[in-house]
Amino acid sequence: MPAVKHFDPKVISLLSEKIQRIPSDQGKSIYLVGPIKLPVNLYGETVEFKWYCWLNCREETDDVERIVAKLSDINLAEMQQSSVLVHGDFANAERALIRFHSICHTGDIFGSKRCDCGYQLKQSMKHIVEHGHGALFYLANHEGRGIGLFSKAMAYILQENGYDTVDANLQLGFVDDSRDYGDAIKVLEALRTKPVTLITNNPKKLDALTNAGLDVEDRVQLWGDVSEYNEKYLKTKVERSGHMGEEEEEGCCNND
Ligand SMILES: [Zn+2]
Repeated sequence: MPAVKHFDPKVISLLSEKIQRIPSDQGKSIYLVGPIKLPVNLYGETVEFKWYCWLNCREETDDVERIVAKLSDINLAEMQQSSVLVHGDFANAERALIRFHSICHTGDIFGSKRCDCGYQLKQSMKHIVEHGHGALFYLANHEGRGIGLFSKAMAYILQENGYDTVDANLQLGFVDDSRDYGDAIKVLEALRTKPVTLITNNPKKLDALTNAGLDVEDRVQLWGDVSEYNEKYLKTKVERSGHMGEEEEEGCCNND
């Protein structure tokens, strides 16, 4: 039995103002914490974002003390949590840009040239800031199009031995793309009810999001950072995963 914990009422009161519960499927809840001020260094300039993080729980309670007590018993650092960076008047602006960015440990953090995720991440933040209103959803359970980091490492070994990115996933027993956008869309709906403009190069992703209930009024594309290291990979994305090619538009991508 975990010890009964008592928290300072002031702490609970502060958190209660910043935690909202979003009803999810099958009696689950998404707890959204934020906004939190997050100044970000974007290409050398400091830009202010509002940051939110969320967690999907098998419990429906509005008792924040209970939630806080429960979380300290769970080793959350062992799990991935997704979050969203919001810029401008996201709730009310007539047109708002959004990006659903799948986590890419190698591209986003290390700056790997095997894909263009890091480039896309920064560029979509830049687009959002230049437009004035928008949100970047960073989806932490989407590594390797949903196969996880260890499996992505194995897929890279296969890719180094002649398999393309789609076949590598299939050879490891995965479907090509197992990403789910349900929670992110529910979080989006809690932050904005008007339609959004989606930043993506991938018509399939647009379809997946629209089918999952996202109200998309427009799509803008994001191309660039093609190099000798990711050329073949990007070509596969275009040929096998339904992406628009750079001949038709401007460039190529992995994260989509
Ligand atoms: Zn990547």
